[in-house]
Amino acid sequence: MFMASVNPATGETLRAFDEHTEEQIDQAIGRADAAYRKLRRTSFAQRAGWMVAAADRLDADADDIARMVTFEMGKTLAAAKAEVAKCAAACRFYAEHAAEFMADEPADAAAVSATRAFTRYQPIGPVLAVMPWNFPLWQVIRFAAPALMAGNVGLLKHASNVPQTALFLGELFRTAGFPEGAFEPLLIGSKQVERVLIDPRVRAATLTGSERAGRSVAEVAGRELKKTVLELGGSDPFVVMPSADVDRAAEVAATARCQNNGQSCIAAKRFIVHADVYDAFTEAFVATMSALRMGDPLDDATDVGPLATEQGRTDVEEQVRDAVAKGARVLCGGQRPDGAGWFYPPTVVADLTPNMRMWSEEVFGPVAGMYRVASYEEAIELANGTSFGLGSNVWTRDEAEQERFAVDLDAGSVFVNGMTTSYPHLPFGGVKNSGYGRELSAWGIREFCNIKTVWMGEGTAGADAGAHTE
Ligand code: NAP
Repeated sequence: MFMASVNPATGETLRAFDEHTEEQIDQAIGRADAAYRKLRRTSFAQRAGWMVAAADRLDADADDIARMVTFEMGKTLAAAKAEVAKCAAACRFYAEHAAEFMADEPADAAAVSATRAFTRYQPIGPVLAVMPWNFPLWQVIRFAAPALMAGNVGLLKHASNVPQTALFLGELFRTAGFPEGAFEPLLIGSKQVERVLIDPRVRAATLTGSERAGRSVAEVAGRELKKTVLELGGSDPFVVMPSADVDRAAEVAATARCQNNGQSCIAAKRFIVHADVYDAFTEAFVATMSALRMGDPLDDATDVGPLATEQGRTDVEEQVRDAVAKGARVLCGGQRPDGAGWFYPPTVVADLTPNMRMWSEEVFGPVAGMYRVASYEEAIELANGTSFGLGSNVWTRDEAEQERFAVDLDAGSVFVNGMTTSYPHLPFGGVKNSGYGRELSAWGIREFCNIKTVWMGEGTAGADAGAHTE
């Protein structure tokens, strides 16, 4: 079997790689296990030096790395460059903050009849990372930077359509100075994930991807009693209330739906608009969506490139076709262009009803669904009325309403009057079928730690707990 890197803008195969054999998989896990024994004994300062070297490389080679990503999965070159820069920043963030996030936390010794008691965060070993192609660098780095800084090591099973990016990421950490095996890409298909996860040397797994893949990995991990973090799909609501700055909301809405060619887990997907501003918002939104330029992702003038895979485009097309067949109206887009590449235009669909697939499924392409509501209560009911709960976005200048949304929305994040995104400084993750666990911030680095209780009684040193090297 082989894995191919195919240019989504042309359909041309760029490179093909043999999948790893059983022997190569076993050796990679062995190298990861050996690397863990070394890495856990290094200091935060040592690891921070290597992490900063990785960031420096990302910054220095940003143009070449971004081109590789654009050729491999079709995002615009501008978006790929922004992704590289975000990755470098996250590496620097964890290089700077890991020791503080993992510092010992003293407890009230007297309350637990100790002379000294504290919580210590320690690494747990090799973690399998199953990752998607949509942000092929960022999804991996937001796991890898905290994991390596904690002293864990990573085994990367990247999506099958981005093997070049997978191999690059392995090389990035190796050349930055991390021990051989500290971050091992495995060129394997999804069927071999179970084989890796049940290996006793692998201690945990993180998966970013679809609900189906999450369920499958969680099932194996559950049987093996291994911890998982799951970052799954989303169908984020974008709610516009009467007091909103409608023009600004419409402009951000188009970006929020079409960023990354419409393939982002936290893209706004369902546009829930109060009747008082529905017509004004829809008119401005459709105008902005229609004005976006679809085309060659290498061209600076392009806003929306192709979808990453042929199947991805077929899925989106079928979801729109299903809605139209059941009575929905297409306000713009809705027809794939002729010619090579897996392009699909920015599309707005109105008059959705619960019997349509778009009502309940995630749409992973530049297609927006419009919903008209008459009240706050109706907006909340619709926004929360899916199986997902990843991000959410609200536009209102009414302060009391802002607070209510922050409480009532069933989602891992609520962004008010600005686009939903991720920052290393804030936790990221979902509720309901969007997954569990958190990435980024201090929460992200502690997910794969042994949160160890240390209790010391009489005859032990009463020294203050502090930062430790491991
Ligand atoms: P996907 O098909 O689930 O693939 C993601 C990864 O899981 C790939 O490495 C894939 O390998 C692997 N995989 C697929 N089925 C598997 C199985 N049964 N067992 C083990 N591994 C399996 O998802 P995708 O189409 O690449 O990505 C789109 C989805 O990811 C969307 O739902 C999106 O919302 C979600 N996503 C979520 C987040 C988040 O942070 N919550 C971020 C980005 C994307 P192969 O490529 O070899 O199949």
